[in-house]
Amino acid sequence: MGLRGIEFFVSDPRVEQRYVDDQLAALAAAIDGGVEFSESEGEFRIGWMLTDLVRTDAGYLQIHEPDFVHMPIRSVASLDRTFLHFASQVRMAEKLGFGDQLDLPTIAHACLVCGRYHEGERYVMERFAPEGLRDSGWYIGCADASHDHNDAQNLRRISLYEACLQRPLLAAYVGLPVGVQVLISAQGLEAATHQGIQLAV
Ligand SMILES: [Zn+2]
Repeated sequence: MGLRGIEFFVSDPRVEQRYVDDQLAALAAAIDGGVEFSESEGEFRIGWMLTDLVRTDAGYLQIHEPDFVHMPIRSVASLDRTFLHFASQVRMAEKLGFGDQLDLPTIAHACLVCGRYHEGERYVMERFAPEGLRDSGWYIGCADASHDHNDAQNLRRISLYEACLQRPLLAAYVGLPVGVQVLISAQGLEAATHQGIQLAV
């Protein structure tokens, strides 16, 4: 049986319709442009999300997103997080004055974390120039000034997806450009600088 169409599901009422409409338009344009979609894992990018295309018995390709619970990644038949994350990334870039500089890595890109980045209420994110194609440039560390972040033994490289499992709010910040540093607490953004200059938050 030939491919009957592409489908995706959205159930979270916070997802704005315009993001769904934009995605439908992008899919329609790709199909009109001759793109032939087929089953694949983690190759179809929407925003920073790497989604799976899953063939259903009814002959549709269903777009699945990572569940942000499991590591290694497990996918679910939804695009809720894909759209919510993208909306939060656009909002944060606009809020800090980088609306035209959104620079999204993917969830598979690497970041550098300190061994305690998931401890405590506050944490710091700073974006450096990426080291290679698979690096996002992001550093994520604890806010404990006594923790030596220059000691390589206290640092390791993981995927942004893995970091996001521990610090779900970080998804909103990953599209900010190189040179940005943010201090984040459970309440959200506390302070931000760009190349050392304080930004209004
Ligand atoms: Zn630390």
